[in-house]
Amino acid sequence: MIPVLKPLGWESIESGVRIVLDPRESIELADEDGSIAALLTLLTEGRHDAAGLYHALNPAFPAVSREDVLDAIGALDELRLIEDRDRTGDLTEDERLRHFSNLAFLRTFSTLEASAETMVRRLRDSHVLMLGVGGLGSNVLQNLCGLGVGQLTLVDRDDVEPRNFARQFVYRAQDIGRPKIERAADWVREFDPQIKVRTIRADFTDAASVAEVVDSTRPDAVCAGVDSPAEIDQWVNAACVRAGVPFVRGGMMVTEGVIWSVQPGQSACLACPTDSDDSSGRVANSLLHQQGVARINRGAGPVATLLGSLVSFELLRYLTGFTAPRYAGASVVIDLAGDCDLTITARSRRPDCPVCGSELPAPEPEAVAAAGG
Ligand SMILES: [Zn+2]
Repeated sequence: MIPVLKPLGWESIESGVRIVLDPRESIELADEDGSIAALLTLLTEGRHDAAGLYHALNPAFPAVSREDVLDAIGALDELRLIEDRDRTGDLTEDERLRHFSNLAFLRTFSTLEASAETMVRRLRDSHVLMLGVGGLGSNVLQNLCGLGVGQLTLVDRDDVEPRNFARQFVYRAQDIGRPKIERAADWVREFDPQIKVRTIRADFTDAASVAEVVDSTRPDAVCAGVDSPAEIDQWVNAACVRAGVPFVRGGMMVTEGVIWSVQPGQSACLACPTDSDDSSGRVANSLLHQQGVARINRGAGPVATLLGSLVSFELLRYLTGFTAPRYAGASVVIDLAGDCDLTITARSRRPDCPVCGSELPAPEPEAVAAAGG
């Protein structure tokens, strides 16, 4: 392990050193004897492992022990200021150019254990199942391809129609009447031939049909963008929780965008019971499936791309681990009539949940009999 300082600004000040990685945050470290500044200089060079750093510092700073050096490396890593040079630079020149902005973004969050290159490789090794390539899915699809997700499975039942053109930008006039999955897959191949893409033309008619697709494709994450039938979100939730696959859902109701994600085994799932005195009063699922009037799709282009971006961002969290999933077990509501402000309402995982609960009660005999009848 060769710790190397990330591209950042730092300077010696009266009481120590000031380090700036993000303009919003200035970190000041005490440095009475100047050893921290000397360490940062060595880390900028990125030539030494921990033992080498100790030996390089020792002549000028004999009081600095090996333990001190290890502690300092640990502290700088916790602040996300250093990477392991052994875990960087293992992409080809073409790959570095292809992922230029991805690497630059991810480098802000990288650690000794996971470099930006490590996270790009995770994306390349990832498989995302896209349930629907319509208003949400087609926008997420473009983002995932830009991020370089290596494998995509596209599921949809619809053909391209004129009404798609307000917000689904992978489709062209000449594609009207053609299955969406076919054109979307062609778009992926034309955009980046290295991405493996397969298609499944399927209509979800029950919970089993969703579970079959999730179980047979074994994705790393699911993007859920199917709006009907009304039970579809519970079916996706059940299939993903049982398969241990995280999913992210985006949709909208009238002038509110809605997003949630579920991290099986960690977060609340969509079936987790909510307390009746829940002051938020917003069970995400019901937002999308109230009376018929709520189901008129009002997702114009900017709305669909905004939701698609936030869903893609959450998928990026799941796939790379650059930060923890932000919307797991939460309902996110975006005020599209206002300033697009986000309201995030966390929900608690419930042990009595029929899907993800750990304390399922034994079925009552009469209930079994009723189900059997
Ligand atoms: Zn649950």
